[in-house]
Amino acid sequence: MTEAVDQLIHSRWLIPVSPANTALEHHSVAIRAGHIVDVLPQADARARYRATEITELPDHILLPGLVNLHAHAAMSLMRGMGDDLPLMRWLQETIWPVEGRHASKSFVHDGTLLAAREMLRGGITTCNDMYFYPEAAAEAFTRAGMRAVVGIILIDFPTPYASDADDYLRKGLNMRDQWRAEPLLGFSIAPHAPYTVSDGGLERAATLAAELDIPLHIHVHETATEISDSLSAHGVRPLARLERLGLLGPGLIAVHAVHLDDTDRAMLSHNACSVAHCPTSNMKLGSGIAPIADLVKRNINVGLGTDGAASNNRLDLLQEMRHAALLAKVASLDASALPAHAVLHMATLGGAHALGMADKIGSIATGKLADLCAVSIADPVTQPCFDPISHLVYVCGREHVSHVWVGGVPRVQNGQVLLQISDKELLGITSLWQTKLVN
Ligand SMILES: [Zn+2]
Repeated sequence: MTEAVDQLIHSRWLIPVSPANTALEHHSVAIRAGHIVDVLPQADARARYRATEITELPDHILLPGLVNLHAHAAMSLMRGMGDDLPLMRWLQETIWPVEGRHASKSFVHDGTLLAAREMLRGGITTCNDMYFYPEAAAEAFTRAGMRAVVGIILIDFPTPYASDADDYLRKGLNMRDQWRAEPLLGFSIAPHAPYTVSDGGLERAATLAAELDIPLHIHVHETATEISDSLSAHGVRPLARLERLGLLGPGLIAVHAVHLDDTDRAMLSHNACSVAHCPTSNMKLGSGIAPIADLVKRNINVGLGTDGAASNNRLDLLQEMRHAALLAKVASLDASALPAHAVLHMATLGGAHALGMADKIGSIATGKLADLCAVSIADPVTQPCFDPISHLVYVCGREHVSHVWVGGVPRVQNGQVLLQISDKELLGITSLWQTKLVN
């Protein structure tokens, strides 16, 4: 007697992520109602289960869907704008003026859809997002069939989206009420940064996050200037200020965390905060090198983020894994710093843990959602393959992603993206925005 399931995926290699450093050969995943119901050797799977849908992956590595722990998806429409400028000039001379003129519901919807297509194609199944008009991002992520944690953004200065702190929070909370029943979506409170939100706003953010039991998503300690400005304005470093205002705790996602002294690191560890490491953005904006190997040694949870496509300029977690590993080695002059499995953990389970979703996503385990990604190693440029985990970090690129499932639903199949909107339509919309943004 065989047992009925919806899907069986048979793969040459299967990397569950937990337990660490494990690559299972010739294993299968059985899926029912969007969840993983079994992980077992192929021969046993073929004998035990019958499935409506069977996917054979004879030259592939199956892994959990990647978790992008920090993005501004809609900024994909500004890909390549203001390149080669440091953070504050990039924001003040390029990004903020363009956003002031053009950020709107339709800009965010279209930009997020473009980003979701790029992320899904590259194996990313969950995105932790922060941007204006989060209701438009929620709509686009849902339309793309991608899992997302949408930020209730908070900034002190007026933008076309909202007039003041109260207005940002009111609009964000309305968005959450409107989208709460959508299973693909979660929410965070997202104060932009310590230098753009007042003490009062930060305190309210902390209270709201605790009341709603959702993460706090904030840029922090990104540049050396941010630290010296905070010392002049508040007499303390930004993290110390956040601690005083009640923001530090297991729900805090500290994005960037580049410039950290010993006290900052102890504070992150003591409060069980998570860090969203964005190596490419930090390199491109010349912000510095986050001390990730040391944070991992201190048992601080780290996830990986792409940041927005305007400071990266791609939403590609396979590349972030590679950059994270290489940057840690060159920064410490130690080739053993951040080995391949450590960065794969960051791009999957680390991100899931930071979002409070480690019981649902981030590893291939019975009971979890079937958010999965397959990477093909059939191409001669990916052969031979002695260690599939190191292959994912040092050899494969996002072009090798062949299949992606979100909650068991295929979103990429044999390299083809399956979205409600065709690439032709998406390119048409993107081209209209390109014309608009430069005028
Ligand atoms: Zn950012």
